Amino acid sequence: MSSTDKPRVAFIGLGNMGGPMAANLVEAGYVVTGFDPSPAAASAATEAGVTPADSAAAAARDAQVVITMLPSGKHVLDVYQGTNGDGVLAAAAPGALLVDCSTIAVDDARAAAGAARAAGHRAVDAPVSGGVGGATAGTLTFMVGAADGDLEAVNAVLEPMAGRVVHCGDSGAGQAAKICNNMILGISMIAVSEAFVLGERLGLTHQALFDVASTASGQCWSLTTNCPVAGPVPTSPANRDYAPGFASPLMAKDLGLAMTAADTTHTGTRMGQLAAEIYREFASGDGAALDFSAIIGAVRDDQNEGAAS
Ligand code: NAD
Repeated sequence: MSSTDKPRVAFIGLGNMGGPMAANLVEAGYVVTGFDPSPAAASAATEAGVTPADSAAAAARDAQVVITMLPSGKHVLDVYQGTNGDGVLAAAAPGALLVDCSTIAVDDARAAAGAARAAGHRAVDAPVSGGVGGATAGTLTFMVGAADGDLEAVNAVLEPMAGRVVHCGDSGAGQAAKICNNMILGISMIAVSEAFVLGERLGLTHQALFDVASTASGQCWSLTTNCPVAGPVPTSPANRDYAPGFASPLMAKDLGLAMTAADTTHTGTRMGQLAAEIYREFASGDGAALDFSAIIGAVRDDQNEGAAS
């Protein structure tokens, strides 16, 4: 397909994730107009072939696809509405496909989709996992909340950025899948870390515990791919002083979104609550710039008063 056959894409939010994602669309032959208020993000995207615009609405003017990759639900809703109804919803071509790839609250995703549909557009939530490495390599997993009739168009535009696209249901279902998955991840990383620290104090080597648990019932991604101790998995962040990877503040954010959803649905998530508290504290202190697997340091520091006395 030549670039003239492809829909015109606006890309709003060209940060760590959005920048390389937009670059992959350009690479695949899409004409992409982008906006980011950060001069550094805007100029990096321009170098990658994105046409810069002065505002989100200017980027979205007459666009057939609008992709947002922003920090929070408030950013997405603000960009959609603008200050006086002069936002992306007013600027995009009628019937445009609005694809929000940010990680935001399920309720915000549904509100954004409702506003987009009320303005005559098609709306999709498509949060991702895979991090900056996946964004750069074009191998992200997209969790899509979309109407069945929009899937073909969604799959086509996500393809240059994706390793995998999973349709999770209608609006909000992508965000729901993302926060449920990351709640498992946050809890399991703490569980794996506690097991390694307990093993250390019982005289067990990291390698011995890894060799058993990685092939036994303790097996999980937090252990076998993102192992929180250096050695057993040479590619895990523990081997490079916990440089992210998936940064602790992002884990704290996702667990916060999961707990908001648990509150609104009256779901008992005791382990999730605890994990959210542990990561909130860690991300606002020692863990601010570290991979979420560095939580093992906080576990080591956390003395059991019963044992000490
Ligand atoms: P980032 O902070 O690097 O990028 C966000 C960008 O949005 C910034 O460049 C910022 O200037 C821009 N922005 C803010 N307000 C804007 C506006 N009004 N219009 C246009 N641009 C605006 O963050 P990121 O790491 O790229 O993450 C983006 C989203 O992806 C977040 O929701 C995050 O939770 C999610 N996510 C991130 C990762 C990751 O590993 N970084 C992984 C999965 C999901």
